[in-house]
Amino acid sequence: MAVLDLGVKPSSEGSSDAGSRRLSPAAARGLVYDAAVKAETDHLYEIVRHVISPLEWPAYAPLIAAINRLKKERDAVILAHNYMTAEIFNCVGDFRGDSLGLAREAAKVSAKVIVQGGVHFMAETSKILSPDKTVLIPSLKAGCSLAASITGADVRLIKARYPGLPVVTYVNTTAEVKAESDICCTSSNAIQVVETIAKEWGVDQVIMLPDEYLAKNVAAQTGIKIISWKGKCEVHERFTADDIAEIRASHPGAIILAHPECPPEVVAASDFTGSTGAMSDYVEDYKPQKVVLITECSMSDNVAVANPDVEFIKPCNLCPHMKVITLEAIYDALKEMRYEVEVDPDIAARAKQAVDAMLAIPPAPAGKFDPTRHVPDSLELI
Ligand code: SF4
Repeated sequence: MAVLDLGVKPSSEGSSDAGSRRLSPAAARGLVYDAAVKAETDHLYEIVRHVISPLEWPAYAPLIAAINRLKKERDAVILAHNYMTAEIFNCVGDFRGDSLGLAREAAKVSAKVIVQGGVHFMAETSKILSPDKTVLIPSLKAGCSLAASITGADVRLIKARYPGLPVVTYVNTTAEVKAESDICCTSSNAIQVVETIAKEWGVDQVIMLPDEYLAKNVAAQTGIKIISWKGKCEVHERFTADDIAEIRASHPGAIILAHPECPPEVVAASDFTGSTGAMSDYVEDYKPQKVVLITECSMSDNVAVANPDVEFIKPCNLCPHMKVITLEAIYDALKEMRYEVEVDPDIAARAKQAVDAMLAIPPAPAGKFDPTRHVPDSLELI
């Protein structure tokens, strides 16, 4: 196992399954689907029956019931990212959404314990915004290819090479990288943040790290010259313009929504580009007959739960990091209060300034990607 340097306590991850590999995850933990569990969870099955079959449910329900009981005992909440599987997102998640939404909830929540249904950089952000709370990440393997692409030392070198330019850092980065930045952004507010910081600093050029494709897509919307880094999301970089053409040929009339971490040619071939939150809003607002979400696979199931009349075509790219967050990992995290995420106080204080600078910018429709707006972009990659 590649153990990330996450500032977490040493692990015995997966030990609950040792010696009981032939049992289901629930049974291996002494949890069964009985009449009491059925009564406790039937109302939750009604929510997800569109995407989880009756045959699968008895495997999930005992863990869901146990997690919801443990949450009360521990005074805990679960922040569920849009890429969590449907049983986590809908049945144990207390707050659901994209990175920005969860970061805001983490700042407001009164519970003593936060369990991050997402990857490590998100848990760090929760800890940065809620330093007095216990923040748990259910698996030490929940990293991110994008976050791993750049270090704080890299950012210091970039700043030395381009003095006087603001550094905008995507939230999909470590606390150490955020600490070296002037402001953070998410995929939902990237355009808005870049335009705001360029105006505030009186510059026509910004450093935007570390996602090459997000930077290029933002440059194409704003005309602001962007210096970026060759980081990529291993889920979104796999989509191609040929994939989009194939989907259009085999599913005529389908509306294609793409995430801005996708390559620019994918964005150009799609009908709409936006964050996970913006894609979800698009489906809610326009109720297309057929839709394709060019993003992580679980997102389609989660949006489908709220939109049962919309047909979802699912080109399935899974994030291996998100997918290590399972019901059993969440159960073990709450039962054993593991793995606690710590952030060095000095790094946390500096990272918080960058996150707070982002949160201080009010959401605005102008921050959305506009499919009709394509200006010649200027991108320099380091
Ligand atoms: S989907 Fe991409 S950006 Fe998100 S956690 Fe996975 S690798 Fe990182």
